[in-house]
Amino acid sequence: MARTHISGFPRIGAQRELKFAQEAFWRGEIDEARLHDVGAGLRARHGLMQREAGLDFVCAGDFAWYDPMLSMSALLGALPERFGFDARTLTLAQYFELARGNASQPALEMTKWFDTNYHYIVPEIGPDTRFDGGVEWFYEEIGEAQALGRPVKPVLIGPITWLWLARSRTPGFDRLFLLPRLLVRYARILETLKARGIDWVQLDEPALCCDLEEDWAAAFSAAYEALGECGVKLLVGTYFGSAAQRAALVAALPVQGVHIDLVRAPEQLDVWRAALRDDQMLSAGVIDGRNVWRADLAAIADTLQDTHAQFGERLWIAPSCSLAHVPVSLAGERKLSAQIKSWLAFATEKLAEVSAVALALEDRAAAQPQLDAASAALAARATSAAVVNTLVQKRTAAVDAAMAQRKSPFAVRERVQRDALRLPLMPTTTIGSFPQTVSIREARAAYRRGDLRALDYLERMREETARSVRQQEALGLDVLVHGEAERNDMVEYFAEQLWGFAVTENGWVQSYGSRCVKPPLIYGDVYRPEPITVEAIRYAQSLTTRPLKGMLTGPVTLLQWSFVRDDQPRATTALQLALAIRDETLDLEKAGIGIVQIDEPAFREGVPLRRDGSAAYFEWAVRAFRVASSGVSDVTQIHTHMCYSEFNAVLPSIAALDADVITIETSRSVMELLDAFGDFEYPNAIGPGVYDIHSPRVPQTDDMVRLIERACETIPAARLWVNPDCGLKTRAWAETEAALRNMVSAARVLRERYAANANDTVVPAAA
Ligand code: GLN
Ligand code: ZN
Repeated sequence: MARTHISGFPRIGAQRELKFAQEAFWRGEIDEARLHDVGAGLRARHGLMQREAGLDFVCAGDFAWYDPMLSMSALLGALPERFGFDARTLTLAQYFELARGNASQPALEMTKWFDTNYHYIVPEIGPDTRFDGGVEWFYEEIGEAQALGRPVKPVLIGPITWLWLARSRTPGFDRLFLLPRLLVRYARILETLKARGIDWVQLDEPALCCDLEEDWAAAFSAAYEALGECGVKLLVGTYFGSAAQRAALVAALPVQGVHIDLVRAPEQLDVWRAALRDDQMLSAGVIDGRNVWRADLAAIADTLQDTHAQFGERLWIAPSCSLAHVPVSLAGERKLSAQIKSWLAFATEKLAEVSAVALALEDRAAAQPQLDAASAALAARATSAAVVNTLVQKRTAAVDAAMAQRKSPFAVRERVQRDALRLPLMPTTTIGSFPQTVSIREARAAYRRGDLRALDYLERMREETARSVRQQEALGLDVLVHGEAERNDMVEYFAEQLWGFAVTENGWVQSYGSRCVKPPLIYGDVYRPEPITVEAIRYAQSLTTRPLKGMLTGPVTLLQWSFVRDDQPRATTALQLALAIRDETLDLEKAGIGIVQIDEPAFREGVPLRRDGSAAYFEWAVRAFRVASSGVSDVTQIHTHMCYSEFNAVLPSIAALDADVITIETSRSVMELLDAFGDFEYPNAIGPGVYDIHSPRVPQTDDMVRLIERACETIPAARLWVNPDCGLKTRAWAETEAALRNMVSAARVLRERYAANANDTVVPAAA
């Protein structure tokens, strides 16, 4: 019979237990031992769930205290020297300092994991990086899992992907220089696992699904030639795309199997069937690890029939990737309509789906009730009246080129806007949100429980808005925001008010560290029944004579950060979202708001892993943003915001968005990102983030002056804005005020310095 396994289960817990324990630990409320107990409890529960679902393996090593990449670095012993930590004796407190920074050191860089909204901690390496061994936690977790009495399959980030994603601060450093040392350490880990009775080890190499340079492909061969000698069976894990072009390579290596993502890239099945050797197994990732829709079990079983006949026991059934990208369990959803619920499967339900597919291949009749139930749910969804809105479909089909085009080019708009807004050189602003204080969260919770009436809640939010506007005026910021007090989340807030969306009660997914997001579901045609933000923004503007920026979430981000329909192209859903945001933008303009920011922090993560797929993505994603933002007149200034992205490859498309101003996260990469903007000669205005909002550390004025000076080397001062990296909702007021006060001072220092030659194309740093 086909064997069953998973590549990872959500670490956070059904009630976000891990998050709350981490945060309690950071606040000093619980000690390390207590935190360890919470982690062990979660791992045991998740292992048991796999055993109870009848999976052949229990997955271990998928737990991480903050992030699997950081944990891998800790296991390898590859920690940046600047922290002065010994990896072998690393405490959890130190581990968290690497991720979050401390009083003397900024955190390690963080960026998005392939095309997901999960952020990993980027390994920081250099010519001197050693792999002298690190924490023992991983082996302890393996031991715990073994106690469950099932074969345990550890999963680790593979050496090529770890190294490929690593970054060095030494310019021109060739990461592959470290490969031999790195492999010695991986070999030691695999040998230790073997000595502990482990048979199979999964090494995840999603880099194989990307445009891997040829020297890296060669490095992959060399690496697995070496690791194949370690005595454990190696399963190479690939996901998020097709790895078919590496099938011959894998088949030539001493590895015993490969996991492939058949949800994202079903077409690769035949290539692998033909390529793999008789002694290699194939793990078929057939249950969607990235989306929440119930699987068509009968169709999957049918597709795998021949493969099962060919591979027999060597066929494994699995979710397409780690289940960490979907919520834990539908059991937490008491409010979701029964109809929609019957269309869904979260991580827990997906375990049963994996088992059902394996059973269906072995004994179709025995699995028939499960297959029938899935088919019935799918049929009901396909014909549901909740899904279709003909008005929306007609309007979407009628979108034309003019709707995606501002009236005049940037050079014209810039002039008109300058006259209207009368802003100083290098205007200061923030990205939108201010601290979501305990009192804001309590008010929201009380309102949700029904303990606070709608009008009282509105009143509370107005008080918060007024407070943030007063605060910003006092600090001397130039373009104000209302502060987003009323927004629990930038996507969910809109989802709650748009038709075609459903929000969950407990559908949390880890975004980074202790941060979780609750992506809404888009199940039907999207329609905006009435204005969403206009009252709140109009109220905020009424409190000040300074320009106040309206704040919207962009269509691509709404799409990207939701669980989307799988019954129509993403492009179509994006366009429906764009029309809703376009209407909102126009309503803001009508209400007298002169600046509207349309946030697109998820724009970059939607880019397909391979270049050959990106042209199509850029076309519809850029169009969606332009449809959302181009209805307004020239004088209305459109901002957009992006963060935690590698921008280099996407600059032409970012320019094509034609936003008047883009604010971007840059401080963690020491403004390197700006070089890309400079080289590309990005035409419109830019606000490079001058301080990291993920750290409680208050940036000093001088630090920010230096960063802005650095920015002035590549971007003309006349097109620069000064702002933090991202929204401030996770920060406290005291540090926010201190940081913004310093930021405003920094802008003032530079304003004087550069005022004279602000219109030069590039101002020399020494000016
Ligand atoms: N306007 C949002 C905020 O400030 C943007 C958040 C984001 O980029 N993720 O919170
Ligand atoms: Zn951001």
